[in-house]
Amino acid sequence: MRERALMSTAPDFFPYGEGRLAALLAATVGERRLLERRLRELESSDPLTGVANRAQLQARLTEVLEGEDPRAALLVLDLDDFKLVNELYGHTHGDGLLVEAARRLEIVATQFDDACLARLGGDEFALLLPDATYQEARWVCAGLLNRLRQPVRLGLAEIEVGTSIGLVMLDGGRGDPDAALRDADIAMYAAKAAGKNCWRLYEPAMHEDLVARLTLEGELAVALEQDQFELHFQPLVRLDGSGRLGVEALLRWQHPTRGYVPPDTFLPVAERGPLIHRIGAWVLRQACRQVVAWSERLGPDALEEVAVNISPRQLLDPHFAERVGEAMAGTGVDPARVVLEITESTAMAPNSLEQLLALRALGVRLAIDDFGTGHSSLGRLAALPVDALKIDRSFVRAIPESGDAPLIRAMVAMAHSLGLAVVAEGIETERQRQYLADLGCEHGQGFLFSRPMAAEAVVAFLTAGGVPH
Ligand code: C2E
Ligand code: MG
Ligand code: MG
Repeated sequence: MRERALMSTAPDFFPYGEGRLAALLAATVGERRLLERRLRELESSDPLTGVANRAQLQARLTEVLEGEDPRAALLVLDLDDFKLVNELYGHTHGDGLLVEAARRLEIVATQFDDACLARLGGDEFALLLPDATYQEARWVCAGLLNRLRQPVRLGLAEIEVGTSIGLVMLDGGRGDPDAALRDADIAMYAAKAAGKNCWRLYEPAMHEDLVARLTLEGELAVALEQDQFELHFQPLVRLDGSGRLGVEALLRWQHPTRGYVPPDTFLPVAERGPLIHRIGAWVLRQACRQVVAWSERLGPDALEEVAVNISPRQLLDPHFAERVGEAMAGTGVDPARVVLEITESTAMAPNSLEQLLALRALGVRLAIDDFGTGHSSLGRLAALPVDALKIDRSFVRAIPESGDAPLIRAMVAMAHSLGLAVVAEGIETERQRQYLADLGCEHGQGFLFSRPMAAEAVVAFLTAGGVPH
């Protein structure tokens, strides 16, 4: 107060005189305190989003944990595929997304007394809720997932970003802030591993899972170097019994000590990092090479198509179409024989359209894999430049021994009305084949016809007459 009074009486008309100097000196004494407070705030807050930084969160955690009867919920949040947003939209928009995420988190944080919201670095945030119960923390996790998933406008685009949340409940037994943060982090990784955009409560067993995943990641890189991958091929047939259509390439990993590791185990791990691009490129090249080898050996009509699975992350690479073009040119395969299988949700993503058009311009065909398991908008489906739908095997399995399967009937009719061919996956019984053939479903794949097999076995299959079943 005193400094302010002095300042206001300082003679403006005599700026360098003694009065002014005295006022300034006095002001510095008082304002230094303000300045110091502001500096402390700056030091303890994140410059981009204005929320607390890691150091301040750690200080608050220590306070809570050292208090009497310490009880709190600690959440660690990590935006899903944020790296991709940065790559696709640029860093300015990436920063914009972080600021918006912080703003949405703040709305929830302010509903709690003493909550501390912090940015830990990159796209990782933490929320400390002193005295929160597990019920409240669950409610917060669910609410945050919903709030953060709302579309964000970045320039002209609107994107949806998921978040993975790890939750740890702190009670009397856990005294170390570093351990608390580490456990919440591990739970967050478990949420990522469970498919992202969800939350997980920390459990001690998660440590071992994390170690196993990290080991797998290291081994995958070695697998590429040491040629431990192999493609197997599963025949695609015409359901009216008139012949073979082609094969779907399915990735196999022969692990030196663990033996065969199924793709559903290691692909999600590869998808978390850059490895998926290298593995995907290898699969595409190998599949194309194989088709060329078969047609050289068995004649150009030995095989109508080879289907190759494309992971969502591959499709999000802005240079993907270019890479596919290079693989076609490099192997000399006829692009019209190549079908790229993409997942339903990737195909539906608003920014996929340009990519799909670029792929089609190369002459390859596109199919939506596992159709019926994602979220499709019929309006978007009609507008997509795809050639075929592969109905997920869960629908085929649901075909009853007798009577109708209305869902699959509707799917086939809808695909046909959109001018798309239909492939039914996972056909295991003659009844399923007959039912689907009667519906007018053109193509099928499944153990009834053949299991996936090594390239050498495909030659025998292609040269034998008739359709196996
Ligand atoms: P998908 O693309 O839907 O492939 C079909 C999966 O169903 C294969 O499993 C195949 O073995 C299995 N299957 C085929 N017929 C039947 C049947 O009649 N009954 C049953 N129960 N299963 C059947 P697989 O080889 O384990 O592959 C699993 C998934 O891994 C694939 O599902 C695909 O999404 C992914 N995948 C495989 N190879 C690649 C690849 O090279 N790249 C990418 N991105 N994903 C791949
Ligand atoms: Mg597939
Ligand atoms: Mg499938």
